[in-house]
Amino acid sequence: MELVNGQYCIQGVPVLDICKSYGSPVYVYDAQKIRQQYHALKEAFNPLDVQIKYACKALTNMNIMRLLRNEGSGLDTVSIQEVLLGLEAGFRPEEILYTPNCVSFDEIRQAVEIGVHINIDNISILEQFGNSYGGDVPCCIRINPHIMAGGNTHISVGHIDSKFGISIYQIPHVVRVMKTYGIRVNGLHMHTGSDILDAQVFLNGAELLFNAAREFPDLEFMDFGSGFKVAYREGDVTTNIKQIGAEIAHRFQAFCDEYGRDLELWFEPGKFLVSEAGFLLVEANVIKQTTSTVFVGVDSGQNHLIRPMMYDAYHHITNISNPDGTQRVYSVVGYICETDTLGYDRLLNEVREGDILALHNAGAYGYSMSSNYNSRFRPAEVLVYEGRAHLIRKREQFEDLTRNQVLIDVLDAEKVDV
Ligand SMILES: *Cc1c(COP(=O)(O)O)cnc(C)c1O
Repeated sequence: MELVNGQYCIQGVPVLDICKSYGSPVYVYDAQKIRQQYHALKEAFNPLDVQIKYACKALTNMNIMRLLRNEGSGLDTVSIQEVLLGLEAGFRPEEILYTPNCVSFDEIRQAVEIGVHINIDNISILEQFGNSYGGDVPCCIRINPHIMAGGNTHISVGHIDSKFGISIYQIPHVVRVMKTYGIRVNGLHMHTGSDILDAQVFLNGAELLFNAAREFPDLEFMDFGSGFKVAYREGDVTTNIKQIGAEIAHRFQAFCDEYGRDLELWFEPGKFLVSEAGFLLVEANVIKQTTSTVFVGVDSGQNHLIRPMMYDAYHHITNISNPDGTQRVYSVVGYICETDTLGYDRLLNEVREGDILALHNAGAYGYSMSSNYNSRFRPAEVLVYEGRAHLIRKREQFEDLTRNQVLIDVLDAEKVDV
């Protein structure tokens, strides 16, 4: 989003016009930014040809999946439903990695039948897998290297108490199961969490995986997960992907030479690809002055963007209706009947009722974590692609709230004495 002749625009499309056409609140995504992020990551590893598997739980609109597939991306999925959405969006099964946690074996069986890559993250499932398929279906093993990554304990998944992955200390057990059933382990995987700044964290994890790899003769790929940090505030430090790319590419090549074969290197970013490309546009319903604070109450809230309340996440806010207004301090809050703050103590260009505010970094874990809480509709989604705005999901309607409810006859007042 940039100011062009006093108007905030995405690829030259005035953002206020998008709001006029599609209403508010609305999620808007910039396709160009997503493509840029994809290619920046790809190029960071040059000359190594890394495979990027977009972790679609970040933003599951099928058009976003398609956009990334057109750039060459594969897909990382965490549920069978995401697998089905991926197929619907046009991915071939072999382009999809399925990385579930604590799902039933039935679901894994469905994924095997579809033919996607299977990533297994506990020994009990690995045993059932061996029992069912022996050496017929290869699988990848998700290893927990116990690397503490990122600053946020809500989203760190590599620690010792984590429910994710098979502990690196259990490799001997994994090998025993693998040999007993003749399982073909074709990949090793780690995903240690979000907001990793330091190449060293990836490299430390990688070393442990390289070490473990000696026990697995059938490897075809290594997947180093994700965790790339993006900027949330002006001047935020972000993962230096150029440096990470160069160091990992170098080390990975050395590993492949040692292993005796060139393996593929995979990453599965979500946030890095889509976070900065997305904005949630909301309208200021009321300006409310209390004894201590000036609140801006908007027509959205934690039902549409839960990250501030759930993770204490910072989402930058811009008043796009008043680019020249005097700056004042506001707390921006939602309309949900809960403490529902989107931003504390923000300097915003003077906000008037009816102004449109843009919440930044809303591409990842925005819409995909939204709900109908307070019986509100989920917003529309719009994609700006090659200079044009396209509606990619309709705003919900009243039928969406009632569709799956079953009104039972026995409670019908006309049939009951009340
Ligand atoms: C969520 C998730 C990702 C993506 O994480 P980001 O921080 O959004 O990049 C990647 N891999 C797995 C297995 C995940 O669960």
